[in-house]
Amino acid sequence: MSQEYHINTRCLQSGYEPGNGDPRVVPIYQSTTFTYDSADTMGKLFDLEVAGDFYTRLSNPTSGAVERKIAALEGGIGALLTSAGQAASMISVLNICRSGDHVISSASIYGGTYNLFHKTMREMGIDFTFVDPKASEEELSAAFRDNTRLVFAETLANPTLVVLDIEKFARVAHAHNVPLIVDNTFPTPVNCRPFEFGADIVVHSTTKYMDGHATAVGGVIVDSGNFNWKNGKFPELTEPDESYHGIIYTEQFGEAAYIVKARTHLMRDIGAVISPNNAFLLNLGLETLFLRMERHCSNAQAVAEYLEQHELIEWVNYPGLKSHEGYELAQKYMPGGTCGVISFGVKGGRDKAAQFMEALKLAKIVIHVADARTCVLHPASTTHRQLNDQQLAEAGISPDLLRFSVGIEHINDIIADLEQAFAAIR
Ligand SMILES: *Cc1c(COP(=O)(O)O)cnc(C)c1O
Repeated sequence: MSQEYHINTRCLQSGYEPGNGDPRVVPIYQSTTFTYDSADTMGKLFDLEVAGDFYTRLSNPTSGAVERKIAALEGGIGALLTSAGQAASMISVLNICRSGDHVISSASIYGGTYNLFHKTMREMGIDFTFVDPKASEEELSAAFRDNTRLVFAETLANPTLVVLDIEKFARVAHAHNVPLIVDNTFPTPVNCRPFEFGADIVVHSTTKYMDGHATAVGGVIVDSGNFNWKNGKFPELTEPDESYHGIIYTEQFGEAAYIVKARTHLMRDIGAVISPNNAFLLNLGLETLFLRMERHCSNAQAVAEYLEQHELIEWVNYPGLKSHEGYELAQKYMPGGTCGVISFGVKGGRDKAAQFMEALKLAKIVIHVADARTCVLHPASTTHRQLNDQQLAEAGISPDLLRFSVGIEHINDIIADLEQAFAAIR
């Protein structure tokens, strides 16, 4: 499928091209394994000499079609689906980091990613420095060490909605010969394509807008193919891998070295694989992603403007509002819209916020965002409850913050729900 097609068309048609008499829709290949007629062919598949599906932990035709679609949406050269967004983040880092290495990460990231980095991966011997995403280039540069292997950030942070200056982060990372990995879950490739601004690797929780219907947990890693791994800093990609008879990823797979290694080394060893059935559900979501994002954004804009003028509201945080600190950056990196997630504070602080949330009827309280149905959450008592007040403040989350994920219902019904909740707490 040609990259020249508009992204809307790619959502529907990329990744799978049926032949004569084939199913129109990518089928669910619900099979763990695939047969070959000779030991020689199987051996070559195993040694990565030829490409082909042989075991679903490594690849599967349904997942493969969806991987090609997402790579086409982001403008990358390849993708790897994972069992969850968490696995995508972990594998994206582990692929080029070992014990003793160091990572620079934005402090404004999803709570689960923060835990993964701050606790689990630190216990594995990888050190992290968390930086303010609004830091200057000089401040960012000062965080680098000799053993720094990558920079990680979210294009539109969950839940703080800080808009990343992607070009600034890419510039600083590249000046230090390391890649920029960004989590692009909130804008999705429909609204933002980070490779166009210098990011090297993109990860997603596909659980959110990509699936969009809250049916399947999943994640994905996408490789731009642009980073030069042969600059001396990445021996795992440029030196022989003994577990594959000494192949050298950059020699055998060229620009696809990173994404091939993520699959053949880490997915082989860790096994955080998506099921073919979940890949199929994800594909259904992707087909309408461009339509849903448009409505999420127009509904969220209307809700944000409504809340901003309401006398019971302390503050509203939405990058589509001119009052938002990241408005200009959002116009630059996400000119078609940002996402459907808004955060705001209700006058009266933590207790009033909880009361308001409980008074909502259409908007359900769930540990989820980016769902077709409007939902609401209080991060300080749920997703970020492990963080102490100082860590909360570092992550940019106040105790009264309500995260409101605007769905694609009729806008009048969403506003009416908010209105009756305000009436209930007056
Ligand atoms: C939800 C989320 C994740 C984690 O994804 P799971 O699919 O829940 O594992 C990572 N990053 C962001 C920005 C998220 O919103």
